[in-house]
Amino acid sequence: MALIQISEPGQSTKPHERKLAVGIDLGTTNSLVATVRSGQTTTLANENGEHLLPSVVYYAKDKTRLVGSEAKQYKITDPLNTISSVKRYMGRSLEDIKAKESPLHYDFIQTNSTVPRIKTQAGEVSAIEVSAEILSVLKKRAELSLGDELSGVVITVPAYFDDAQRQATKDAGRLAGLNVLRLINEPTAAAVAYGLDKASDGVIAVYDLGGGTFDISILRVTQGVFEVLATAGDSALGGDDFDYVIASWIQQQLELGDDIDKSLRNQIIHAACQAKQTLTTERLASINIASTTLELSREQLNNLIDPLIKKTLMPCRRALRDAQVELEEIKAVVMVGGSTRILRVRDKVGEYFDQPPMVDINPDTVVAIGAAIQADVLVGNKADSDLLLLDVVPLSLGLETMGNLVEKIIPRNTTIPATRAQDFTTYKDGQTAMSIHVVQGERELVPDCRSLGRFSLKGIPPLVAGSARIRVTFEVDADGLLHVSAREETTGIESGIEVKPSYGLTDSEIEKMLLDSMEHADEDIAARMLHEQQVEADRVLEALAAALDDDGDMLSAEERQSIDEAAGNLAKLKTGNDDRAIKQAMQALDRVAEVFVSRRMDSNIRKAMAGHNVDEFNA
Ligand code: ADP
Ligand code: MG
Repeated sequence: MALIQISEPGQSTKPHERKLAVGIDLGTTNSLVATVRSGQTTTLANENGEHLLPSVVYYAKDKTRLVGSEAKQYKITDPLNTISSVKRYMGRSLEDIKAKESPLHYDFIQTNSTVPRIKTQAGEVSAIEVSAEILSVLKKRAELSLGDELSGVVITVPAYFDDAQRQATKDAGRLAGLNVLRLINEPTAAAVAYGLDKASDGVIAVYDLGGGTFDISILRVTQGVFEVLATAGDSALGGDDFDYVIASWIQQQLELGDDIDKSLRNQIIHAACQAKQTLTTERLASINIASTTLELSREQLNNLIDPLIKKTLMPCRRALRDAQVELEEIKAVVMVGGSTRILRVRDKVGEYFDQPPMVDINPDTVVAIGAAIQADVLVGNKADSDLLLLDVVPLSLGLETMGNLVEKIIPRNTTIPATRAQDFTTYKDGQTAMSIHVVQGERELVPDCRSLGRFSLKGIPPLVAGSARIRVTFEVDADGLLHVSAREETTGIESGIEVKPSYGLTDSEIEKMLLDSMEHADEDIAARMLHEQQVEADRVLEALAAALDDDGDMLSAEERQSIDEAAGNLAKLKTGNDDRAIKQAMQALDRVAEVFVSRRMDSNIRKAMAGHNVDEFNA
């Protein structure tokens, strides 16, 4: 398959009129910059002709920083000052990081700010700053090879990245002096690179196996518009794991046992990685370790890595189920990530999806290429392009309502950008402020979801409960960032926040929250019913108290006593957890209060009719 044509023949503008835009794949293992030049997409190399920049930064004692392959060589000798895979820490709290990584790879410190920092000999650095170092190198590389300053960039992020992780990525771009036009999802970028937006409508799968992570995304293309239907993956499975199983095999062959020193272990892992890459093109690789030479055949490699490849198919199944599409509906499978160069991976994925996967574009560079195409459009080089990218909200966004209940405003898997508004009202007479609590998750009760932020709307005119109209608007922008605003419609008073949670959810947390919501669905419905009855009971008791205050003298002592008894019974049951009993108590109270209600009504009518002719009311 040929690369898609970027500009129509004859339509290309003069070079000096074109704005320079690049796409950046800020990867866990490797990063890359690409651009569109005279209608061709190319990745940009450094002065040594290398395209991939290892995502590694070395902080030296004299405060100089090395980025890329130069930094990588310090990984063995000076691991604490050589930061790699920093993408895993983006938008995460120290707690999140500790939960995933044990023992911690670096010397983390919790500072006053919410962003944890890593102690290095050149000072403390945050994940955002480390990423900015990588981005700066790519920026310089692009400006050097394009000969001018960049107008804008598109940076890619995993589809499952949450608000905090996206925000952190955007901040890193800004810190590197880049004008970040947009963040787009990696699978979407890969699909764009293959021109699937120009192809016929249908569902596609993007299989991304990188150095340390695996992601599968199911996208729907409709008239050139992409929609992410579902994502799944394994944040701890990638090419590195292939290296480890080969390394274990080497250790076995050399009868070294597990207890070997770190430097030898690192040498073995390095040799394993080289053998793995050799076997993509050769049938046999020789490995030299500890003055012994071993041979590893492609068949042996396949046997070693088969269980790991198999492990990637489970998330594939899950993603299809989540997206509610059948395997037969998948009309293309796009391969992304360095590890999909392995022929065995291609074969197994092809077998699973029952079709040969797309591999024509180098899987290392395909994401950066798609990002470059999108950047070129966004910067205005392709005037009448209709390329519009749509992604989805990974978890439902909503707010807390009375009784600890979650009202979902933007449901999970809604395509973004999205704006949804809902009207709310005050709960109490004369209520002049409303506190708005924004939450994320699939569960019905607030404590089971994740709190994203709070703000309050003050200055609501004191009205009778239920008559103020407060419109709450949720807006998720094209980068996946959430803004929430509230407006009281009669006065126009407004308040809002940009939801910037200090830390993000880990993808396994997202997964857990989704699983929980399925597991607890019944429980949740029961809990919801209970809360609804409790809120209703509160309302009834409050209204009754107010009415007794005003018109209590309409009742005989006996009547009053039976109402008080029924109300007392309801107040007692209300704090329990039997929603049916609460309902029955409410009905009982209704019955004994009936005479009071009708007497009040009569009296109100009499008051209203005083001085009027009865016929006026019959008109
Ligand atoms: P990431 O998206 O995590 O930054 P990449 O897509 O750059 O990662 O993939 C890096 C992984 O690809 C590494 O584990 C590397 O060993 C593996 N890889 C690169 N080239 C080959 C190859 N020819 N054969 C097998 N694996 C390869
Ligand atoms: Mg990648």
